Amino acid sequence: MTSDYPESDDWCVKDNPNKVTIEHFKQAIQQAELCAPEPGRAKHEVPKVGAVIVKDGQPLEIAHRNEVGSGDHAEYIALARTGDDDRRFVGTDLIITLEPCTAGRHGIQKKPCVEWIKSHNIRKVWSDTP
Ligand SMILES: [Zn+2]
Repeated sequence: MTSDYPESDDWCVKDNPNKVTIEHFKQAIQQAELCAPEPGRAKHEVPKVGAVIVKDGQPLEIAHRNEVGSGDHAEYIALARTGDDDRRFVGTDLIITLEPCTAGRHGIQKKPCVEWIKSHNIRKVWSDTP
């Protein structure tokens, strides 16, 4: 079994201009652990999801599901926190503990997370399930 996680800083020299490291993955997992239960949903029905947006080795935003409103997705919260036209995220990398949604409308999000990611010109999405 192989893993896409960077084992060290040397791992991703080839395609890692934003200097993503295992520490960013750990931050995303730590965020996921902060997810609160959602009213009306069983605990096992609510995924724990954390997101970290990285540029040049630094996290620009971190977020977790339900951080703002019940059911809000982590990557949406991270991207929309400062407005949907924020240009800080162009060319950044997003680490997310669950693949971004591709369909549907989610409360105030109004569009799937994949569309938010595309509209912010995120360079690369690193995703896995904790
Ligand atoms: Zn989503």
